[in-house]
Formats: sequence, structure tokens, C-alpha cells
Amino acid sequence: MITAARHIDSTPSARGLRSWKCHAECCVIQQAGESNPESRSSPARRPKAAETDVDDVRFFDAHCDTILQVVEEGRDFLTGPGLHVTLPDLRAAGVCAQVFACFVLEARSPGRAREHAVELIDAVHDLCAAHPSELRLAQTSEDVAEACAERGPTAVIADACGGHCPTAVVLSLEGADPLESEVEALRDFHARGVRLLTLAWDDNAFCGAAFGSGGGLSRQGEELVTLCEELGVMVDVSHASDAAFWDVCRVATRPFVASHSDCRSLCDVGRNLSDDMIRALAERGGVVGINLAAGFLSQQFADAEAGAREAFWAALRSGEKGLDEAHEAEARATRGLPRPPLNVIAAHVKHLIKVGGEDCVGLGGDLDGIESMPAGIQGVADYPRIAELLLGSGLTEAQVEKVCCGNFSRVLSQTG
Ligand SMILES: [Zn+2]
Repeated sequence: MITAARHIDSTPSARGLRSWKCHAECCVIQQAGESNPESRSSPARRPKAAETDVDDVRFFDAHCDTILQVVEEGRDFLTGPGLHVTLPDLRAAGVCAQVFACFVLEARSPGRAREHAVELIDAVHDLCAAHPSELRLAQTSEDVAEACAERGPTAVIADACGGHCPTAVVLSLEGADPLESEVEALRDFHARGVRLLTLAWDDNAFCGAAFGSGGGLSRQGEELVTLCEELGVMVDVSHASDAAFWDVCRVATRPFVASHSDCRSLCDVGRNLSDDMIRALAERGGVVGINLAAGFLSQQFADAEAGAREAFWAALRSGEKGLDEAHEAEARATRGLPRPPLNVIAAHVKHLIKVGGEDCVGLGGDLDGIESMPAGIQGVADYPRIAELLLGSGLTEAQVEKVCCGNFSRVLSQTG
């Protein structure tokens, strides 16, 4: 994400890797909502829609930055103070698949982008190993389909800590910087479990970024898209420049995704997709994951934070501040702004359906990578509220199921 990225409000890698040991996995489920004061949607208090039980809705979230918070900030994935995504909340909310993004930028890890990415990937592997009954690394689309099919109502989830229905963990790289300009390096990351590649965060050797030079895919970038398709790695155009988006449209032969982006016609920022882009992505079978950043959902919020965003990029491009320092200043400037209402989420979902159809919409909250979300959303524990909101906004149960889980699950099966 661009604005107020919490994951880079920090001293890079200052704390190194921590080790995670499961305490009592079954108890983790029982503690949901108690251990995290922000977890207002514990199973017993979940909202119910008038005619449809939102407890039955499962979620596939296509982007979170949680592993950076865990590794670099030392936050606790079990107890979660300061985290949007914790293990108990993932389970309690009914998340059947969660993409864990490993965000690495060459400028932030000079000379060791690949090494740093491997550290983050290993940390995700460690989490899965420490909590085998609750998290399972997804190696194939079948792993995800199985997890999403198995996950049921909350009562079943609470019951499941004895051993089945783990949440599928999908590994992604945010930015192709860890490839260090070598297309073939993707093979090693694929072998380590990476199944989604966000081509750019800032400009890199493969792809121009939305807030970068505006360049498209390089020749190497085209080769990279082709290798992604060969290996079964989802291509992700979130953060890519418009030119790069259209280059991906030209080169890709399979569906691709925008894992965490919103609609530009409702909130005019470069990170969001124009209607033409939404149509083109949808025609190719792709999915757009709704980003919960207030500055991508609400024009009013985006306008209010525009000054801080411009200052961020000016400080960064001039070299006056490093990335982390610039983000810290931006976050300070935007933290007190009033949050947009919850229904901005429904507005973007409905716009995507209107422009691209009900098969092109998913969720990619950008949790633990953003500062401000719509009122009523504190983290993944509140995802059932989104299902309730969508049901109350006139979407059918089948549409809500597609948005919350089915579409990303389907596109993953068409990629791998
Ligand atoms: Zn991002």
C-alpha cells in the first residue's frame, strides 16, 4: 500500500526473526475476543443479518502485511495487540484462506532483498509449523479449495481446533524486488511456496509502479508474467502503473488479479482501477480484492490525506527521508482524520459488480499495512460485518459468497 503503511513505520529487521511456539492451540480459539480488545466480533457476539446467518460466510483475503508486523515489529500473532490479523481472529471470523504478503523493497533492504524475502517466507512457514491444526501452507489450489469447502459455521470452527479445517495460508511476494532482476529466481520462490506475485510496489526492473515513473512492463517483466503462468503463480497488478496494467493484459493468457485495490471512479487515486481496467481484468477472468484503506475507499478521506501523501513522496524522492521515516511522518499526519462510514465498502463492491460483473470482486483488506479503515472495521475479526453489510445492501447470498471467498478461490484454481 502507499499511504500510511504501518509495515514500514519501523526500523527494518531490527529485531530479526522471532520463534513462535504454540501454547495451547485449542485455548487460542476460546480466547478469541478476550485477548484482543479490538476484537469486537467474537463468535458469540457476531452480528446476524435478518434472514441470512453471516456465520456461514467464509472469507478469502488476498492481502495482509501481518508477517512484517510480526517479524519486524515483534508483534504477537497469538495475542495480537496492535495487529489487525491474529490467529484467533482469523479462526473466529471464518477466514478459510489468507494471503500473507512478504513485502520487500530493494531500497529498504539494499543488497539483501532476496535474503530478506526468504526470512519473511521462513517466518510464515514457522507459523504454519507451530500451529498445524489451524494454519496450513497452501501448495496447490486444491489445498485452498479444500480449506474453503471445509470451513463452516463458527460452531464448527470452534470444534475444529482438534485437528481439521486449518486456514489455508497463501504466500505472496509484494514487489518483485527479491528476484534481484533475475526472472528465473522466481523458480526458487515458487519452490518455497510463493503462489502470488505483486509485480511492483515501487518501480523495479520488471514493472513500473502506480506512484513511480509510470513505465510499463520491461521485456524481463513480460518474461516474468509468462513464467508466473508456467509455474502457477498468480500475477497481481495492484501497485502497478496503468501502462504496466495494460501490458499485463496484452501478455497474460490466464486470469490475473488486483489483490488489494479499489475503484478509481469512486476514489480517484492512482492505486485504484479505472472502469476500463476493471472491465479488462474481468473479461480475462480476474478478481479485484477490495482494499480497506480509507484513503482508497473515500474521496473525502483521500483528499484530506493528499497533502501528507505528497509530502511522503517528495521526502522520499528527494532523499530527505528514508522510506520508514517518510511513512512515519505520513502516518502521524493522517491518524486523526475522521473515518469514512462502513457503507463505502458496499459502494465499491457494487460498482465492481456493475462494471465487471459479480465474478470479479473479492476482498484484499491490506490489513496490518494500513492505518485507517472505515468506521466499524478494526481488523479481520470484523469481516462478518462486511458480509452483513453486503447482504443488507441488496447483494444476494450467492453474490456475497463469491465476493467473500468464491471468486479468489476460483481464480486460484485457474492459475495453478
Ligand atoms: Zn500493498
